[in-house]
Amino acid sequence: MTEPSDDIGLVWFRRDLRLDDNPAWAAATSQRKFVVPLYVIDPRLMRTAGPFRRRQLLASLQALDYSLAEHGGRLLVRVGEPEHLVADVVSKLGVGRVYWNSDVTPFATTRDRRVAEALAALDVTVHPWWGSLVHVPGVVLTAKGTLSRVFTPFYKAWKNQPWDPWPEPGEATLFDDPGESMPVLDGPPPMFEGEIEAKVRLEQFLERVDRYGTDRDRPAIDGTSMLSADLRFGTLSPRTVVEAVGEATIGRAGFVRQLAWRDWYAHLLSELPGLPNHSMREQFDQIAWRDEPAEIAAWKGGFTGYPIVDAGMRQLRQTGWMHNRVRMIVGSFLVKDLLVDWRIGERHFRHLLVDGDVPQNVGNWQWVAGTGPDASPYHRIFNPVTQSRKFDPEGAYIRRWVPELSGLSAKAIHAPWELAPLELLAAGITLGSEYPVPMIDHAEARLRALAAYAAVGDDKVGSSRAPRSGAGPRS
Ligand code: FAD
Repeated sequence: MTEPSDDIGLVWFRRDLRLDDNPAWAAATSQRKFVVPLYVIDPRLMRTAGPFRRRQLLASLQALDYSLAEHGGRLLVRVGEPEHLVADVVSKLGVGRVYWNSDVTPFATTRDRRVAEALAALDVTVHPWWGSLVHVPGVVLTAKGTLSRVFTPFYKAWKNQPWDPWPEPGEATLFDDPGESMPVLDGPPPMFEGEIEAKVRLEQFLERVDRYGTDRDRPAIDGTSMLSADLRFGTLSPRTVVEAVGEATIGRAGFVRQLAWRDWYAHLLSELPGLPNHSMREQFDQIAWRDEPAEIAAWKGGFTGYPIVDAGMRQLRQTGWMHNRVRMIVGSFLVKDLLVDWRIGERHFRHLLVDGDVPQNVGNWQWVAGTGPDASPYHRIFNPVTQSRKFDPEGAYIRRWVPELSGLSAKAIHAPWELAPLELLAAGITLGSEYPVPMIDHAEARLRALAAYAAVGDDKVGSSRAPRSGAGPRS
């Protein structure tokens, strides 16, 4: 063990894999003479992350290592549990101050508390910052001094809340031992990479952001930013995005509003750590959810017989990403049509999504299920065919992900079972052979869901206890 020195700082990177607009990094490099950049690959997190998020993490770490090399440093990588390893590195290198950007998940909160305790025992000071959200949890409050359970009042307060200042980076000398070798990626590069590519993506989005209001709900076109994985891994700072986009047009203001949803769900989880496991409106935990493994498997695999649902689930399985409108449609199908517990869908998404992020995923699943704060009222049940006709009118998204239906016309592709068998044959399809018959009748399933929800809560719950606040995340 080396005596801790205040000249030496350590930045423990986690979900902030960038050097630009990163308050923990800036504070450390401006306040210390020497800085150690550390990342700990935690096997517990690697086990729960699916293939897309694992690859994304490794690619982002490699990119961060390149960025550090340009400043004369290397990313020190260790593999194991941070509860032991952070203190281990600190005591070996004589670090006196540790910096990180905080996180809201229950796992991270407990882990960070334990790391802070281990560091306190070594007489090492911790400097926590918040670099992954626009505002720190706990500062966006209504006039009553509380975190709003309804989005619109939160959004108004969020917009009016001044940004707490973030420091400017300094010229500290960087530690340049990469430690344990970083796992190397083989195979094709992941969908998104480090902070340089993230900035390019942001620039490209700025060219189309003014059309965001009209294009964002069309899964067949690149109408959204595709920045969610960058925000998830912190290769882009949310403040950088808000500043670059501004609010000059309806499209821009609508886009920035989505980032307020992101902050809101994080602030809610920070205050209500039980959200991943319990419906926010408790009575919905009593719903008699159905447990039908074959049906859940058909949903996961993209073989429900509803083309828009299958397209979305196959996009997720093949790429780790899914368009937001389709996330809402497939979520509603699982929870309302199949009457499957929203937590099963949430865990599946969490595993596969490249942007899988507990506060956002849980908040949105509870929104879709009608069980959460300011949620879609449970009696609003998405009709997958109507949604498909409205948001993918040409069927281009379906054709991309369900190619066996590509011979069908734009009119027929949303509900192939409505065609006569001979018409289907002309397009090369027999239902039940090339493509499944619908696994459920939507109209009947809708009534079953309404009855199941009504059995545990009163009919007014959707409107009186969870007032709608204009549009939902993308309702
Ligand atoms: P854009 O439309 O360009 O939005 C810009 C950014 O705003 C996004 O990158 C995201 O950070 C934020 N944002 C947009 N919509 C939402 C929203 N509804 N809630 C919270 N933040 C939002 N998003 C995640 O980042 N991680 C998840 O695990 C996740 N799970 C979801 C699960 C379900 C069932 C649903 C319906 C939505 C989920 N979302 C999740 C929200 C949303 O679908 C994605 O953020 C969005 O599709 C990402 O694409 P984009 O970056 O092109 O979005």
